[in-house]
Amino acid sequence: MTHFEKAPAKINLSLDVLSKRDDGYHNVEMIMTTVDLADRIELNTIEEDRVEVSLWSRYVPNDERNLAYKAAMAFKKKYNITKGVHIKIEKVIPVSAGLGGGSTDAAAVLRGLNQLWNMNIPIEELAALGSSLGSDIPFCVYGSTGIAKGFGEVIEKLPPPPPFWVVLAKPDIGVSTKTIFGQVNMDEITHPNTQAVIDALFEQDFSKLCANIGNSLERITTSIHPEVLRIKEKMRQAGAPGVLMSGSGPTVYGIVEQHSKAKRIYNSLKGFCPEVYLVRLIG
Ligand code: ATP
Repeated sequence: MTHFEKAPAKINLSLDVLSKRDDGYHNVEMIMTTVDLADRIELNTIEEDRVEVSLWSRYVPNDERNLAYKAAMAFKKKYNITKGVHIKIEKVIPVSAGLGGGSTDAAAVLRGLNQLWNMNIPIEELAALGSSLGSDIPFCVYGSTGIAKGFGEVIEKLPPPPPFWVVLAKPDIGVSTKTIFGQVNMDEITHPNTQAVIDALFEQDFSKLCANIGNSLERITTSIHPEVLRIKEKMRQAGAPGVLMSGSGPTVYGIVEQHSKAKRIYNSLKGFCPEVYLVRLIG
């Protein structure tokens, strides 16, 4: 039996760090939406009771460290499944980029195994299972647009943004989310206006959205990697009305309503930044 599942990237419309918890993790509030840049996951049942991962990537391991592997093992354990699965990952999303690449692969495996093995597990249960593996996984299980709270495990659906094009620009560096959160000083953190972003989504107000997207981690990542600021500046100069770093970075996105304008921005970033994509909002 074979099942294919698309694993799309996310971008943060907002990312706020609210407080540090006693266990060292942070309480966050993140509004995320889904874009059409996706890994492809192929799942094949195998008779042996094990999980295999195959992928071609210089940056991602194909063993038990892979989040897709962890998701499959967690699924098998929780539901006492003794058959196995071979997971083939075609990696398209840049790694350690702030686009949730590993999390979306894990989420796609949870959704995909539910289908492959006809389990009929409710999506809330899959999201809860995912939250034990990573804070962006519950959001990725649902996809579309939503706000993640707590450690990322509480998800509330939000209306998708008004349609736009997204230019993604990633400098030639990877950023570890753990390292960036390790540098958070709650006395210095700046907070985005999350409510204004939510209002913009309900009102379908693109200008309001552009004016209020914000990311508490931007200052930390840009102080370590100033090239992120240069890309933001270039994106603005090229005419993107909304520009922000996604997640813990380093990918910067620009959002634009018209395709022709997005194409121009994409072209001007191309010569400036090693990895640039022009993709549609899935929302
Ligand atoms: P986020 O935005 O959720 O913080 P990210 O996009 O910054 O995540 P990922 O691409 O998910 O980062 O990669 C982070 C780390 O996870 C890398 O060190 C990578 O090797 C590891 N990893 C494990 N499994 C995967 C996977 N299936 N795809 C990508 N990275 C994976």
